[in-house]
Amino acid sequence: MSHPRGPLSQLRRGHEELVLGLLRKHGPLSRGELGKHCGLSRTTLYDILADLVAEDAVVTATPQESPRGRGRPAETLTLNPDAGQAIGIDFARRGLHVAAVNLAHEIVGAASEPHAADLPWEERVDLAERLVGTLTGGGLRLGALRAIGVGVVGPVSGPDPEDEPGKPGPEVEDGGEPVPHPVQLLLRERFGVPVLLDNNTRLAALGESIWGAAAGGRDVLYLRLSHGVGGGLVVGGSLHRGAYGLSGEFGHITVDRDGARCDCGGTGCLETVASIRAVLDAYRAEGGRADDVPELVKAVKAGEARAIGLLDGVGVAIGGVLAAVCNAIGPSVIVIGGELAETGEALFDPIERALSTHVMPVSLHRVSLRRATLGEVAGALGGIALVLHESPLLARYPAGQDLAPGLYQQEGP
Ligand SMILES: [Zn+2]
Repeated sequence: MSHPRGPLSQLRRGHEELVLGLLRKHGPLSRGELGKHCGLSRTTLYDILADLVAEDAVVTATPQESPRGRGRPAETLTLNPDAGQAIGIDFARRGLHVAAVNLAHEIVGAASEPHAADLPWEERVDLAERLVGTLTGGGLRLGALRAIGVGVVGPVSGPDPEDEPGKPGPEVEDGGEPVPHPVQLLLRERFGVPVLLDNNTRLAALGESIWGAAAGGRDVLYLRLSHGVGGGLVVGGSLHRGAYGLSGEFGHITVDRDGARCDCGGTGCLETVASIRAVLDAYRAEGGRADDVPELVKAVKAGEARAIGLLDGVGVAIGGVLAAVCNAIGPSVIVIGGELAETGEALFDPIERALSTHVMPVSLHRVSLRRATLGEVAGALGGIALVLHESPLLARYPAGQDLAPGLYQQEGP
């Protein structure tokens, strides 16, 4: 659906959404039934339907001739279950995760693949395209694709929700144009649709708060323990971004003033203690043998005192940070995700203990600590939620930083 922007195309897009919404709600309908429901003129409706069929968004079916001999039954139209409406892509530090939903808003597939941390953007986008191509057994149709929701590492600010639509966000060059992220340009080139961008961990928080461990929660603290340590907040039923897109950077809260230097430029951040690299380095420094998290998990499951003792210290540091954030924002649910959550009780018990010690006693039994349930595709699913923009958690959240406006003008009439 890469129509040019403008009042007319917006009107047309509105009509398409109306028709797709009716088919989503009612299931298969004839043209006559659709006409009654939508109130569009016959010409407009047929025109819209012709486009939707050409885009593979809608498929037609002619039911068998009725046995009572009343003539040929009317052709019905239905949503194509293989037509992707939104794709979510999480460009994590060392891996890529994709997911897609069809026009019925059903998740039609998800896929992941690890890669080297220094893989160039072009190759990451190649990989993303290949992974998207494997969804629905290779049958995903992209003619009706509306947009791609992308998560990247690091702060993403985007437009201020208080600003008027179309006004550039804070990341502007001297000429006043918003600066697109390189991955937005590359994806736009490949897929020809708008590319919305946000922080990947915040998108994972969104995914978990809509479909995962915190579904239905209005005040959620999400923490991801992966190659980086980050998180996201849902406050008062809204995903929180913060003035500079820095909301949820729990990994850079200081836990040791004399600690190690952090990639952010700070010292002794939680990330220097609780990231995968930090934990594995500390484990090996104590004589442990593990090249990755699954090996560490194996040691924990075998009851190895060294691994359990190390995770106890890490958990206490995490719990202290969580308690401080809890006291600041008062969540009802804390969700912990990322590969290190696989270490289970060895990490969760000390986290819970530190929380109990440091959280205000009045909120002690009001906070529920949970393990994330969506796995590594949480961020990709959050990207889809960003595109669909249907979750009440996004009602006051900007739709995401899109490309520079100038790029749309190249589309022609
Ligand atoms: Zn830091």
